[in-house]
Amino acid sequence: MKMIVMKSGLRAVLAGATALAALTLAGCGDSSANGSGGGKLDVVTSFYPLEFIARTVGGDAVDVTTLTAPGVEPHDLELTPKQVGEIAEAKLVVFEKELQPAVDEAVEQNAKDSGFDITPAAQLEATGADFEEHEEGAKEAAHKDDALDPHFWLDPVRYAAVVKAVEDKLVSVDSANAAGYHERAKALLDQIGKLDTEYKTGLATCKLKTFVTSHEAFAYLAKRYGLTMVGIAGFTPDAEPAPARIKEVQDIVKAQHVTTIFYEELVSPKVAETIAKDVGVQTAVLSPIEGLSDANSKETYLTLMQENLQELRKANGCS
Ligand SMILES: [Zn+2]
Repeated sequence: MKMIVMKSGLRAVLAGATALAALTLAGCGDSSANGSGGGKLDVVTSFYPLEFIARTVGGDAVDVTTLTAPGVEPHDLELTPKQVGEIAEAKLVVFEKELQPAVDEAVEQNAKDSGFDITPAAQLEATGADFEEHEEGAKEAAHKDDALDPHFWLDPVRYAAVVKAVEDKLVSVDSANAAGYHERAKALLDQIGKLDTEYKTGLATCKLKTFVTSHEAFAYLAKRYGLTMVGIAGFTPDAEPAPARIKEVQDIVKAQHVTTIFYEELVSPKVAETIAKDVGVQTAVLSPIEGLSDANSKETYLTLMQENLQELRKANGCS
């Protein structure tokens, strides 16, 4: 019984292979077939939150390369010629438009058909969080209020919408593996749904509603769960805040009895430490989850979101 199934299965595979060979011949400009992934779908993602989705939903059907290496701050990524080549050869390039201009440009020039911008699914808004003073001065500062906030992944609801969009895209590019994509996406969406519930209940009753963070990555999260984010350094985490802004933040910390100034792993904590020391409060890490600290890390999007929740609960006296 089993033998027969295997034999007919093999015949089907062989027939498929013949059909594939014919297709490859027909489209004779394309010698890469499925790229270097040994039959897997070659997917390039621009930075960690999208990599996590592609790897988790793609499973063993995909071969994922990420443009932003672990330990690298993604906002000002520059691409090597090798990476531009990877973008050109991939069957699917998942990226977030306007977060990383170098990626936008490489997709525009080399991957017009395979590029997949997740911003429509993420439903970005102008959260008004970015008051960074650019060196070029007034022109950009004037636009700060309508700049779209890229940090959708820190809001589990927006992140789930992007998971669904990537699932649909994988299915449309590689329909032979649709069942696996659907199954793994459902498992991930269940976990994200649980996370959303834990945030809702975990932040429902807090003594303090305000939290202070150097990198303004948490506006969507704050809005979703009824908190107020006070940022120090704008959307780009390594920007130097103006002295007036530092004074403003210190006044808020004192007036509202904020206990903690949050900073992040990938950028120097200097500014956060200075502010905290001046007003006598502590510092702690709140991860913007833009990248893992190193390649062998056991961290994932889900564990880092859990850690962030615990840090917020501690700092804000949530019961
Ligand atoms: Zn950021």
